Amino acid sequence: MTLCNYCGKAPTTANSHVAPKFLGNYIKSNSPFGYMLNLWGQRRQYDLDKGPYLCRTCDNQVFGAWESYYAANIWPDALKARTRMGRHA
Ligand SMILES: [Zn+2]
Repeated sequence: MTLCNYCGKAPTTANSHVAPKFLGNYIKSNSPFGYMLNLWGQRRQYDLDKGPYLCRTCDNQVFGAWESYYAANIWPDALKARTRMGRHA
């Protein structure tokens, strides 16, 4: 049994995202193919990598709250900054 890499107390779930899922959704929504390209494996990828990293509580409550805050408050500004630099998302 693998314990959570954050709290170290509870068993991990099998499906903790390495990067927030909304980033994968953003990439797919801007892809002409509707999926991501995994350049290391040279294959189509429909979701970001997942693995047994966090317990359900840390994944959903702790990291979920950080990801929600980031998605609502920081990510939109980062996209605007990119557009101001002459590139478009
Ligand atoms: Zn945990």
